[in-house]
Amino acid sequence: MAEKNTLFDWNQDGLIDREEFAFCWNRWIKVIVRPKSALLVINVQNDFVSGTLNMSQRSAKQNGLQVIEPINKLLDTVNFNAVFYSLDWHPSNHISFIDNIKLRKIHYTSTVQPEDAQTYDTVVFDGDTPMKQKLWPRHCVQDSWGAELHKDLKIVDNAIKVYMGTDPEEDSYSVFWDSKKLKRTSLAKQLEAKKVTDVYVCGLAYDVCVGASAIDAITIGYRTILIEDCCRGMDLDDIERTRNTILENYGSCVQSDEVKSMVEGKDRRPELGLKLALELKAKCIGSLYVRVIESKDRRPELGLKLALELKAKSKSSSMIEDRWIKVIVRPNSALLVINVQNDFVSGTLNLSQRSAKQNGLQVIEPINKLLDTVNFNAVFYALDWHPMWYKGHYTSFGATWYDLTQ
Ligand SMILES: [Zn+2]
Repeated sequence: MAEKNTLFDWNQDGLIDREEFAFCWNRWIKVIVRPKSALLVINVQNDFVSGTLNMSQRSAKQNGLQVIEPINKLLDTVNFNAVFYSLDWHPSNHISFIDNIKLRKIHYTSTVQPEDAQTYDTVVFDGDTPMKQKLWPRHCVQDSWGAELHKDLKIVDNAIKVYMGTDPEEDSYSVFWDSKKLKRTSLAKQLEAKKVTDVYVCGLAYDVCVGASAIDAITIGYRTILIEDCCRGMDLDDIERTRNTILENYGSCVQSDEVKSMVEGKDRRPELGLKLALELKAKCIGSLYVRVIESKDRRPELGLKLALELKAKSKSSSMIEDRWIKVIVRPNSALLVINVQNDFVSGTLNLSQRSAKQNGLQVIEPINKLLDTVNFNAVFYALDWHPMWYKGHYTSFGATWYDLTQ
């Protein structure tokens, strides 16, 4: 794993110097040895166990009731730093209910018309942006029996409940976001506030809300672990796809009896260590490589910024002098070109349709001129690059840095 050896060599000099080691120790090794773990118990609600969306009636014929015993055992035996219970929690006029199909206009591109629509079909609703929606039976209506957590599920003290799909116009399979990625649920903020590093996910259904939540956790940057024997799903192929997506993105899929020693930092999975290292590298590329170009125009604010950075990082003043003047006179400059992608220029997130009415196309000429005339030490192009969920439905947000020089 040669990549791993260079992950903390930010300045690429082939050595891990003192600053780099301090960073590696504080942000990587400490997390691996003493992770902060949260358990997300996803949608163990009556409607999914034995109600209108009873998963035993779907193709995989799995029984949602069977997650309760292993989840309760986990809650009894493992000391998580936080436990969250999510609830699918829809108003009665919710967009995902097939019996509400006549309440909204269908977009002309929809291949399914309201009069022919069957449960589990996908239609396209009209709107500012046409929106794909899978049609489900009426389920988890707010304050109904179907929306209650199953009575046998253990609810721990200090449990935090997170509600999904509460807006009539928006559905959500992920406990982090609505499906259009416009509104965050309260979960992301609470995980941040509790300084959680590791997110464990279980519940119903593996290939829908559990999977979407796990993939979002990974994309946001958490070390993410799906507890397979504490999940049941709807379709075997979709379950397999979900599992593969998690594994390909440095998540873990484990059994519940492996969780305790992972939470205690005794069982340390290499894929989770690598995931954290990649996250740290992605976050630091920007701050560690910002320098001014040819060094003839030397901006005081940038000199001051550098001095403050060095002061914060080092106690030795001779080191500061050595690293400050030289950098100001001979900076190493990188250009980050952020997300100049079709969707933002003229596609689904076309800037010209937002309130500022600006035209994304107009950045291309000046950026090209920069690239032609300025000799940057490195050029990075960032691409917003989302993993695909099934059937063309995007679940994840966030930008990933792609270092084209490697
Ligand atoms: Zn729902």
